[in-house]
Amino acid sequence: MKINKNYLNLEASYLFSTIAKKVSEHKSQNPDKDIIRLGIGDVTLPLSKAVVKALKQASEEMGVKETFHGYGPEQGYDFLKNGIKEYYSKHNAVLEPDEIFISDGAKSDLGNILDIFDTDNTVLVQDPVYPVYVDTNIMAGRKIIYSNSNETNNFLSMPDRNVKADIIYLCSPNNPTGAVYDREQLREWVQYALDNNSIILFDAAYECFISDETLPRSIYEIEGAKDCAIEFCSFSKTAGFTGTRCGYTVVPLSLRYDNTQLNKLWLRRQTTKFNGVPYIVQKAAAAVFSKEGQEEVLSNINYYKANAKIITDTLDRLGIRYTGGTNSPYIWLKCPNNMKSWEFFDYLLENIQVVGTPGSGFGKNGEGYFRLTSFGSREKTIEAMERLLNSSLCTTGNCS
Ligand code: PLP
Repeated sequence: MKINKNYLNLEASYLFSTIAKKVSEHKSQNPDKDIIRLGIGDVTLPLSKAVVKALKQASEEMGVKETFHGYGPEQGYDFLKNGIKEYYSKHNAVLEPDEIFISDGAKSDLGNILDIFDTDNTVLVQDPVYPVYVDTNIMAGRKIIYSNSNETNNFLSMPDRNVKADIIYLCSPNNPTGAVYDREQLREWVQYALDNNSIILFDAAYECFISDETLPRSIYEIEGAKDCAIEFCSFSKTAGFTGTRCGYTVVPLSLRYDNTQLNKLWLRRQTTKFNGVPYIVQKAAAAVFSKEGQEEVLSNINYYKANAKIITDTLDRLGIRYTGGTNSPYIWLKCPNNMKSWEFFDYLLENIQVVGTPGSGFGKNGEGYFRLTSFGSREKTIEAMERLLNSSLCTTGNCS
C-alpha cells in the first residue's frame, strides 16, 4: 500500500495558525486591550429573513409524508437552477438549466473539477493566489506555473502568448487583491484560451460585490467563453451561506475537449461521488432570488461595501496605496514605510491591536502587501480606522 506522495509536496499552511498564535500571545500579555479583527474572510451578518423563512418551511415539509424529499435530482432542483438562470440573464449571460450543477459551495467544486482533467496538464495560477487552486493541483501532481499580478498591472495579470497553459484559474473580484477584470481584459483571456485549447476555471465567488455596471460579473458575459470556461460561484458571500453551504458550477453544454463534452463528464463525476445538497438548503438558496431575498441580501452586501469605503477613505487620508474595496470586500494595501507583510502585521497588532492578513501568505508577489476585509461590524471597522489615523502612520497631516 502506497500513499499519494504528492501530498508530501504540500507546503504547510502557517498563515492563519501563525496569525492565531501571535494574536493569542498578544492577548495573554495585554488582557485589557481590545483586539479588532479585520482579517477574516467569513461573513458576520446573519442569514436574511427570507432565507430563514424558507429554511423553516422546507424543514416543516421534510416532516410530512406528502412533502418529504429524499435524494434530489442529480444536478439540483429546478426551482434553484431556474433562479440562477434568471439571475444570470439580468447580466446578459444566457445559461441552460442543464449547464448548472448545484454544489455545497465553490471550494469543493474548485477542487473536485480536477478529477475530469489529465494530471499532465500545466496549470496557470496568478500570484498572489487563493491557495486552494495551488494545493488541489499539488495533490494531483500537476505542474503549476505562475503569472505575476503586481503593481505594474494593477494586480490583474494578463496572458502571455509565450507561455503555454492548459488550465487557467481566474478569480474576479480577486481574493486577496480585490482587483476586478474589465470586459476587455477578460476578452483577452478568453481569446488566449480559445487559441491555445486551454480551459479557464473562473471563480466568481465575489461577483455580488460588483456594483460598477461596466464590469463583468460572469465570464459568460464575454463572447466565446462558453467554449472555453467553467464558472464557479457560491451563496457564501452573496447571502451569508458560509455555514449553510450552497454554491453552483456552470459547465456549458458547448464545452468540448478531446472530442468529449465536459458537461457529461462532470455529470458522471458528480453522480458517482456526490449526492447533492439538502432540499432544505436549496430552498433557502432559492429564496435569495425572491424579491424580498434580493432586497435583503443586497442590503447586507451594501453594509459590507460601506465598511470597505470607511477603510479605503482612511487609507486615502493616510496616503497608503491599495487595490480593491470598491467592487470587492477585500482591500489590498501596500505596507507603509516599505515594511514587509509580517512586519506590518506586528506593527498593527502591537500598536493599535488591529489584525489583518499578511500578503506574503498568498504568494511571493504578496510580500510587502496586506489584506483587510470589510466583513467586520461597522462599529469595529470605524474604531479600527480611528486607531489607524491616530497611529504613527499618519504623516500626511490629513488625518484628524
Ligand atoms: N473562492 C474564493 C476566491 C474564496 O475566497 C472562497 C472562500 O473564501 C471560496 C471560493 C469558497 O467559497 P465556498 O464557501 O462557497 O466554499
